[in-house]
Amino acid sequence: MKQNIELSLSDILPGKNEVLFSLGIPVGTEIVDSIQALFDEALDLFHQTVQPSCIVNEISYNEFERIFRGEGKNADDVLLKYIYPKANHLALYALTMGKTISDKIDHLFNTNDFALGTMLDSVASNAADKASNVVQDWYFNELSKTHGLNSNSATLGYSPGYCGWDISGQKKLFQYLEPEQIGIILSSSFLMIPLKSITGLLVAGKKEIHLFKDNYSYCSTCKNRSCIDRMKKLRS
Ligand code: SF4
Repeated sequence: MKQNIELSLSDILPGKNEVLFSLGIPVGTEIVDSIQALFDEALDLFHQTVQPSCIVNEISYNEFERIFRGEGKNADDVLLKYIYPKANHLALYALTMGKTISDKIDHLFNTNDFALGTMLDSVASNAADKASNVVQDWYFNELSKTHGLNSNSATLGYSPGYCGWDISGQKKLFQYLEPEQIGIILSSSFLMIPLKSITGLLVAGKKEIHLFKDNYSYCSTCKNRSCIDRMKKLRS
């Protein structure tokens, strides 16, 4: 059953370290007053403009198989094909930071305020990532109550456009989940509008199904290698 998940501001508010780290400033760097002022201003704007919302819908293995096939453009060794068949539960999700904050970022860039635009962009991207973690935790907690999921299990999200799952996979995902209900639309090039939105598959199962070696055909061109941190957290 499709449900709306509440995303509270306090849960998705990113910290200064993570926002600056995304901009290439290592944690522990002493920052100058002008950067601190930009961060403070971006945080104020974030509070004024963010409108987070999220929907989740459970999906069966067979239904997801059809969606995952998408437009037939996934990599032959797409990561998710080795993971979701071993899951106990699957759900599709879509979340957004809302139109107003994306419009504000666009406006800042269009009026040549690149410094503040870049800072707000980083705040919004980090908030969306935190929101994704909130949804993963929410699904884990729901399954703990209803299906006895325990600490040997984990719920992680996997998104089209990453790890061999072609971005065109958004088309069938949108047809099933209908994220338009929370204001997310899909462009003809499969970009989401507003930009600060995330979709994906929540995969719940034993922790080991989420562990793998990052040596797939597409890994050599991966910039963030976010799987390494995720697996480190799972192992600890
Ligand atoms: S290295 Fe990058 S592309 Fe490869 S599995 Fe990890 S996150 Fe995905």
